[in-house]
Amino acid sequence: MATLSTLGVGGPAAGVCYPASTADLSRLLKALSRLTIPWWVVGRGSNILVADSGLAGVVILLGSELGRIQPLAGEGLLRVEAGRGLAGLLDWCTERGLSGLEFAAGIPGTVGGALKMNAGAWGHEMSEVVEAAELMNREGEIFRHDFRPGELSYRSWPGLGENIISAVIFRLRPANPEGIKARCRELNRLRRAKQPKAASAGSFFKNPPDEAAGRIIEAAGLKGLRGGGAMVSMKHANFLVNNQGAAARDFVRLMRLVQERVKAASGIDLEPEVRLMGRFDDP
Ligand SMILES: Cc1cc2nc3c(=O)[nH]c(=O)nc-3n(C[C@H](O)[C@H](O)[C@H](O)COP(=O)(O)OP(=O)(O)OC[C@H]3O[C@@H](n4cnc5c(N)ncnc54)[C@H](O)[C@@H]3O)c2cc1C
Repeated sequence: MATLSTLGVGGPAAGVCYPASTADLSRLLKALSRLTIPWWVVGRGSNILVADSGLAGVVILLGSELGRIQPLAGEGLLRVEAGRGLAGLLDWCTERGLSGLEFAAGIPGTVGGALKMNAGAWGHEMSEVVEAAELMNREGEIFRHDFRPGELSYRSWPGLGENIISAVIFRLRPANPEGIKARCRELNRLRRAKQPKAASAGSFFKNPPDEAAGRIIEAAGLKGLRGGGAMVSMKHANFLVNNQGAAARDFVRLMRLVQERVKAASGIDLEPEVRLMGRFDDP
């Protein structure tokens, strides 16, 4: 899994499947359910931490094979399959003068992963541009979900449960392509100035209400703190980076150390934004 996640850590999965259509995905889920084989769904792996012991089951990898973009009837309405990368979608929208997703410039995830995480930046998030989603349950049955206001919360979709997002319906608005391009360029520049280059999963912890996790970690004096090959970035304290051949257990050790020290220094409980996959029961 180290090659399938941006942190570059994690042991092997028993198998990896790349469904190329929603029909494929449905057949796969039906078979896995019948055979009672555990599975995990992964997009770009830019917000996951997989255990060194790996995953005793199948990783369902939703990538460019399941990445079609289809304009729908109605101004600015698009159906995008879940494996499409945000960057590719943003390029597509820029060319056609569709605005709304600029905030996502530089977020390295898929459309499905971004909706599951309600990804956001610069004061905007996915909830503002999604109209509906096509979901699949564990038995491979597909259904449409129309969003009600307030259903997506900060970096999570609590109601998604174990369903897989197979496609997302976006509502965007027409705008000048040059303006969209300029905004994306500017946001990418700001991102490069703030974020470390080393392998990471982006912001490791969620921001507590009205606070920035990075500021709290920095104030506790933890920049540069190490757990094996994992380190609290010197550039942005909410980025835990892999700078020396780290293992997943190094990240978990560092995560717990940061949580303990922040709690002692400020009384604040930091909750990881990154999703842990597999077994982490070693001390
Ligand atoms: C350098 C860097 C910068 C980042 N900047 C930001 C940022 O500014 N804002 C932000 O919000 N995030 C940021 N992230 C985190 C990450 O890119 C986002 O959370 C992204 O949306 C995750 O998408 P993914 O496809 O990589 O999901 P994955 O990491 O593959 O999966 C994340 C979670 O979503 C689930 N999942 C994935 N696809 C599906 C699906 N189709 N259906 C159901 N569940 C699914 C997985 O099981 C897992 O629980 C950053 C990451 C990096 C490495």
